[in-house]
Amino acid sequence: MRMSMAEMKKKCPNLKQNLEHCNCSYTSCDKTALCCQCLHYHRRNNEIPACFFPDDVEKGWDRSFRNFIDTWQDRV
Ligand code: SF4
Repeated sequence: MRMSMAEMKKKCPNLKQNLEHCNCSYTSCDKTALCCQCLHYHRRNNEIPACFFPDDVEKGWDRSFRNFIDTWQDRV
């Protein structure tokens, strides 16, 4: 049987440390600070997690590859 996100959070030894590095503004997400699940979810959707975007862009919740490229091509 598959573990729920809440159960995974209880077992994750890195949750607190992950949260310190998470800039995601989607506060109702059940994957917050479960970086492995966050990554799998966004990769499945051809997206990139919030922490790869600067805060001002992240808050728009557009996690697409296109937005990632458009954002960083002018900032690096
Ligand atoms: S980046 Fe996506 S999956 Fe990760 S915490 Fe934010 S909304 Fe959830």
